[in-house]
Amino acid sequence: MIEKILIANRGEIALRVLRACKELGIKTVAVHSTADADLKHVLLADESVCIGPAPSAESYLNVPAIISAAEVTDAEAIHPGYGFLSENADFAERVEESGFKFIGPKAETIRIMGDKVSAIRAMKAAGVPTVPGSGGPLGDDDEENHRIAREIGYPIIIKASGGGGGRGMRVVHTEANLLKSIQLTKSEAGSFFGNPEVYMEKFLENPRHVEIQVLADGQGNAIHLGERDCSMQRRHQKVVEEAPAPGVTPEQRAKIGAACVNACIEINYRGAGTFEFLYENGEFYFIEMNTRLQVEHCVTEMVTGIDLVKAQIEIAMGIPLSLKQEDINIKGHAIECRINAENPARNFMPSPGLIERLHLPGGLGVRWDSHIYTGYSIPPNYDSMIGKLICFGNDRETAISRMDVALQEMVIKGIDSNIHLQREIMNDHGFREGGMNIHYLEHRLEHLI
Ligand code: ADP
Repeated sequence: MIEKILIANRGEIALRVLRACKELGIKTVAVHSTADADLKHVLLADESVCIGPAPSAESYLNVPAIISAAEVTDAEAIHPGYGFLSENADFAERVEESGFKFIGPKAETIRIMGDKVSAIRAMKAAGVPTVPGSGGPLGDDDEENHRIAREIGYPIIIKASGGGGGRGMRVVHTEANLLKSIQLTKSEAGSFFGNPEVYMEKFLENPRHVEIQVLADGQGNAIHLGERDCSMQRRHQKVVEEAPAPGVTPEQRAKIGAACVNACIEINYRGAGTFEFLYENGEFYFIEMNTRLQVEHCVTEMVTGIDLVKAQIEIAMGIPLSLKQEDINIKGHAIECRINAENPARNFMPSPGLIERLHLPGGLGVRWDSHIYTGYSIPPNYDSMIGKLICFGNDRETAISRMDVALQEMVIKGIDSNIHLQREIMNDHGFREGGMNIHYLEHRLEHLI
């Protein structure tokens, strides 16, 4: 059993983890920067430790400070949340070497999945459909690279093996630009990610982003919890997510889900994870695996009734997965709107500052995951997401109308937010129709703001 967990994160996800710990009767340690002493979960935790100054590099990314905090508070496990150190294999390794449980997969799994080429190889071997591509790093043989590109067919995309955050990618439409683009991407990859390795894949022109949530216990048991559609994006950042994905049939779900489950067993995956796919013309193409909890995990929780954070903790305790695939029933529809402290009319400029007044929505099927409160001041140092509004309904239309009503009720005074833009999206004809691709929102934005 685990009696005390250190939460190595901040904001809404730290509070989300704290709530799960409390339900399980587990004591909590909050770690925070000097800018975050008044975060809601810090005030609610059993203990808290200041781990450094406001810049993340000196606090939330400060591995020795976090390990020391676990030592002095006698915590037994560390939950990394998402972002920060959650997909850092070296951190996971240090945590376990220091005698703590890392609530997530083994360091070696994080390492394999963190490198796109090795992740794609592992997925191919496990029978997960991938994007047609070079299947491995590109060499220096120009003729060979031309041949690979011709075989895949233009347009193609050159991607850095070590890339992340939507960086280190270049689309090539014609043969004339191929060699130059490979060179450019290699040198960028070298300076951004310290690894010049690049590979090539088919560029899908109008895909949707559909991802599969999995749970695996690292003891030979794994299940999937269906899919989420996260195609509503701006600059590769998800804005609205939903489950299930419009138009994905139970047969398609079962097939791609089974491939992901098989992959989990093949790589002996442990914990919660997400297989991200591009989805075009009814086909799934694997792009990457996230070896952690995701921001949008809530929509899956709403349609399956399963608490993913509790499941993560139980897996870390070594409890075999008691859920079987046949226990997972997708019921109804859930939508999540990310609420950001930003001004969409001013090029989405962040808007930190004091929350002077807060009125929250409620009612049947309305969930609000957020750390903000009246009198709380949003520091300028971190991500601008301040909460997630999640609405559930028996069908998609109900979930959308419920979200629209909830957004109308919500008042945050003192800062700018994207609440109005989210309402516009809920009332947008394309969104209402469902199944729009990853470029749709970007194209619609000028009409919506
Ligand atoms: P990152 O780790 O940087 O987020 P991903 O591999 O997940 O990189 O890709 C990020 C985004 O880039 C995808 O969501 C998609 O919009 C675009 N992308 C990546 N690969 C392709 C591809 N083969 N075809 C079309 N778009 C792609």
